[in-house]
Amino acid sequence: MTNQKLVIPDAKSGIPMAFPIAMPDSALFPLSGNRLPLKKLLKKLGPNANGARINALLDSMRASSPTRRPSDAEDRASWNLHHPSALTMFEEIEAAATGKQIVVFLDYDGTLSPIVEDPDRAFITSEMREAVRDVAKLFPSAIVSGRCRAKVYDFVQLTELYYAGSHGMDIKGPSKGHKSQKRGNQTVLCQPARAFLPIIDEVYKALIEQVKHIPGAKVENNRFCLSVHYRCVEEKKWVELADQVKLVIKDYSQLRVTHGRKVFEIRPTIKWDKGNAVEFLLESLGFDESSDVFPIYVGDDRTDEDAFRVLRERDQGLGILVSKGPKETNASYTLQEPMEVMDFLRRLVEWKKVSLFRQ
Ligand SMILES: [Mg+2]
Repeated sequence: MTNQKLVIPDAKSGIPMAFPIAMPDSALFPLSGNRLPLKKLLKKLGPNANGARINALLDSMRASSPTRRPSDAEDRASWNLHHPSALTMFEEIEAAATGKQIVVFLDYDGTLSPIVEDPDRAFITSEMREAVRDVAKLFPSAIVSGRCRAKVYDFVQLTELYYAGSHGMDIKGPSKGHKSQKRGNQTVLCQPARAFLPIIDEVYKALIEQVKHIPGAKVENNRFCLSVHYRCVEEKKWVELADQVKLVIKDYSQLRVTHGRKVFEIRPTIKWDKGNAVEFLLESLGFDESSDVFPIYVGDDRTDEDAFRVLRERDQGLGILVSKGPKETNASYTLQEPMEVMDFLRRLVEWKKVSLFRQ
């Protein structure tokens, strides 16, 4: 037996936690990188460790991939009270933003586009594109996504915006203010994880090989980070998929795994997340020291919580969580789905136009 550390994400925070565990000498994760069938893998862990470990892992995967909970009127009412609809409370938001420069940050998947089975087909509607374009004409605006920046641009196709891809690790924007610029003129603003590119490419190839036997598993290269989607994987295969992911990255201390909505995110260990991207963009826009800025961040995912937290810490603007059900969040307001996000963006534009007309 040897002592190893078992790393599983904490069910609440999603942060990987290491637990010491006695392991048989025959490797659980063989150095050769060969796959181990799940049944054999469970046998090697022993009955007691298995139960706790599997339950903790499954709980974490379910928690990070929440399906709709059964209706719980009390929970919902209490949650709605503390996180009211941004549409219902729009006048309150107007009042708070009056006289300040609004800056709009938008997540992509689940916020502007619906969550779909095939992540390559998470298209934005033309109506939503128009709404985002109208917003970007009036306010500095950015898309902040876990996806590869180029892919998000291909979906959105608006040159007026800043794009922060790979969880903010790849930021590009219009070179002059937030007015329309040709894509080719966009200047690289920030790529803090550039040194990790060769490793990420290497792990991408290894992951494709390692999970190809699991039906529905999809590995996405987001350039500065990787995603392993399990949206289309049967739940009974989730643990096996998690093990294969861990098997690949166990030798890469420079990388860490976090959870999104039915997705494992593999990214560099550097302290850089969507919250840092928001701070970087606010600073780039000249609002770092300003008390007259009102950032609005709209997102649906656990990774958006870093951005919500930054706004709370700055005591500026507000976070809006896109969710149909109660979730623990740093956001102040909620919207139920992308259609409501579009309504909110339209109201923001109408309100600003009326304000400009009155001046
Ligand atoms: Mg999202």
